[in-house]
Amino acid sequence: MTDKIIDGKKISSEIRDKIRKFSDVLKQESGKTPGLAVVLVGENPASKVYVKNKIEKTKEVGFNSIEHKLDEKVSEEKLLSVVRELNDDENVQGILVQLPLPKHINSDLVLDTIKPIKDVDGFHAENVGKLWSGLDSLVPCTPLGCSILLKKLNPDLSGKNAIIIGRSNIVGKPMAALLLEMNATVTVTHSRTSNIEELVKSADVLVAAVGIPEMVKGSWIKKGAIVIDVGINRIERDGKKILVGDVDYDECLVNSSMITPVPGGVGPMTIACLLLNTLFTSYKQFGIPEIKLSDIFE
Ligand code: NDP
Repeated sequence: MTDKIIDGKKISSEIRDKIRKFSDVLKQESGKTPGLAVVLVGENPASKVYVKNKIEKTKEVGFNSIEHKLDEKVSEEKLLSVVRELNDDENVQGILVQLPLPKHINSDLVLDTIKPIKDVDGFHAENVGKLWSGLDSLVPCTPLGCSILLKKLNPDLSGKNAIIIGRSNIVGKPMAALLLEMNATVTVTHSRTSNIEELVKSADVLVAAVGIPEMVKGSWIKKGAIVIDVGINRIERDGKKILVGDVDYDECLVNSSMITPVPGGVGPMTIACLLLNTLFTSYKQFGIPEIKLSDIFE
């Protein structure tokens, strides 16, 4: 890879190595092992692959993995009772309910039933409020991963324009809060924005989280911009199934100063950040003096 390409695979692997070391220290100091519970409802193939990967990586860093696989037709009440049991389980420090949930289940209710301190996805309203208030909170994993990549490149974005495409609760909105914290001037665009191309042309930092294959063209990228591509889109090209992002990678590579590839950019950072959140909250729950992101990166 050239210096221009942000190697999320390598960076996330370094983070997981550090987590493993901190997890060993935590075990020595507390006599306890962090536990991460994953709840999967139904048979969504993408979710199954993602959960399998999470479980593997959870075990690799020395955490306990607790898995609950529930039938597609499970009642909302049953799912809520599983979440409540995990809330009360001392062996569980982090709870992740894999999204999307089947339509008959109220996802917001399920996410808000998770105890905020065990909410390693950072989706509970309490964590969202704290993030926007600049308070210590569990931060959604994908934007946290993007912000870690950005901090490695340019920790202070004072005077820089950051444009986000997408305003989901999972990526776009929390990303805006994190970029504000890094002192960027932030614009969030979405499906009702009329002049996205023009706005992107002013971006020193672009975060694309839209779900449209290769929507952002090379001519939109300002010379020297940092491009973070969150999109994961499965398409068929030349008879082959491939993954592409929300930016046209080959085109955008030309003008950007740094760019994340798909796959191998933001994707691997998401799981690393899930483990990072589990580590942070385990320190808290075990009553051991807390660690900070800077401890991980020293
Ligand atoms: P959502 O579908 O929840 O949100 C998409 C956002 O894009 C919405 O805010 C929507 O606007 C906006 N949008 C849709 N069409 C347009 C358009 N034509 N112009 C501008 N904005 C538009 O997606 P997510 O945020 O969950 O995910 C976005 C992408 O990131 C997907 O490709 C997903 O697979 C990927 N992803 C990757 C992760 C990783 O680990 N790398 C993790 C999570 C997601 P509106 O609100 O107006 O509808």
